[in-house]
Amino acid sequence: MKSEQRLISTGERPPFICPHCDGVLEYVSAGVVYPYRHDLADRMFWRCLPCKAWVPADASTGMPVGTVADAVVRALREEVWTSLAALARRRAERSQMPPAEAMLKGRDWLGSQLGIDVPFNRHHLTLEQCRRAKIILAQFIHRNKVHG
Ligand SMILES: [Zn+2]
Repeated sequence: MKSEQRLISTGERPPFICPHCDGVLEYVSAGVVYPYRHDLADRMFWRCLPCKAWVPADASTGMPVGTVADAVVRALREEVWTSLAALARRRAERSQMPPAEAMLKGRDWLGSQLGIDVPFNRHHLTLEQCRRAKIILAQFIHRNKVHG
């Protein structure tokens, strides 16, 4: 990570490769990938043009925060995240736990359910992991009779 940050600070960037087509990712502003999301105006993204796949860049290092995802995987990652966040909010309310702590516990829990041994990051989820995460979350909601 240190050497990657050094590259960024000297204005160089390592070539990041698209895992889907082996093409070189481009570093683009949010307006290129989300022209109508003015709330993201100051964010940068790494994009594979042929795959129409992208991932946010870290705001401070400029590094990709995960793997580039096409529209299907992006939507699934958001669904997983929204569902997990809703469960964490309910847990925080029920147990007087700070919301950030509830979310962290939720991320750890889902990561372990998926067999991910690094800190859970939705931007790393593959299509298959997204599908499994959705099933795991649905089963949890069903088992615990958590509603809307
Ligand atoms: Zn690609």
